[in-house]
Amino acid sequence: VKENGTNDFKIYNNGMNDKTIEKIKMENDLRRAIGASELTIHYQPKFHAKTNLLLGAEALVRWNHPTLGLISPGKFIPLAEETGLIIQLEEWVLESVCEQIKKWEYTSVDYGRISVNISHIHFYQSDLVQTISQILSKNGLAANCLEIEITETMMMHNESETNKTLQKLREIGIEVSMDDFGTGYSSLGYLHKLSIDRLKIDKSFIHEMYKNEAIVSTIIAMAHHLQLKVIAEGVETDEQLNLIMKLGCEEIQGFYFSQPLSSHDFETQILKPLLI
Ligand code: C2E
Ligand code: CA
Ligand code: CA
Ligand code: CA
Repeated sequence: VKENGTNDFKIYNNGMNDKTIEKIKMENDLRRAIGASELTIHYQPKFHAKTNLLLGAEALVRWNHPTLGLISPGKFIPLAEETGLIIQLEEWVLESVCEQIKKWEYTSVDYGRISVNISHIHFYQSDLVQTISQILSKNGLAANCLEIEITETMMMHNESETNKTLQKLREIGIEVSMDDFGTGYSSLGYLHKLSIDRLKIDKSFIHEMYKNEAIVSTIIAMAHHLQLKVIAEGVETDEQLNLIMKLGCEEIQGFYFSQPLSSHDFETQILKPLLI
């Protein structure tokens, strides 16, 4: 650094260094946290609105940092993607979810399907399907206990490459849902070409249903036309639930029913009552 640099220059330069140092530190922390007991998974149940039947749950990762406390995935998933740690992280998620499912298998409760979010970086890793198959067989599980959630933006990459992986997943019995639907570059023109099972309407549409009724109703009609299932996420109120049901969407996830729960709470609050 030049001696005669301006204050502006110095401040800018220091800022950069601090940011970089902080990021490197977080990266190291995250690397250590994966596999250590700092990461946990919460499960948010999904229900069939008319029958109240449990359809399954979404697995959502949390990081309990030793000094910073609970960090939301919205903060560390982007870092994990940037650094490539996302692959290790999601493999850990897949392992932990399958070990958990194995335990639930013994309870003879029908927990439905558990969905796992997969980043586009991991998705385009050539051995994803193989990795998942191995984890399933290691735990003695059939593939129909799992679902993968991917975001629509990643679909724009390479259609035939994308479809190959999607088809392999579905061939072994894993369902695929397109997450955050409606927020990306969704082109209705390519949707019918993709090998998926379900659209997940993004919560931003649900939260302003009164404004978005026409869009949401179009998404649902289109999904049904393409013989896709459709789920609404982020349902919080009676009004939202009633409207979305009126529009023909029957799969529901959101605070209206339940927050994401620790595996222990999911067991006692959601699964146990089903045993009776
Ligand atoms: P997402 O996949 O869209 O997950 C839904 C998010 O909405 C979750 O936030 C959930 O807690 C929240 N949510 C559920 N119901 C409601 C509701 O009624 N109202 C509102 N306002 N929010 C609701 P969370 O757990 O903070 O996760 C944020 C994002 O982090 C997820 O969004 C997902 O994109 C990402 N994420 C979490 N775990 C993983 C993972 O293992 N891999 C990847 N790639 N991403 C993950
Ligand atoms: Ca999701
Ligand atoms: Ca979502
Ligand atoms: Ca999201």
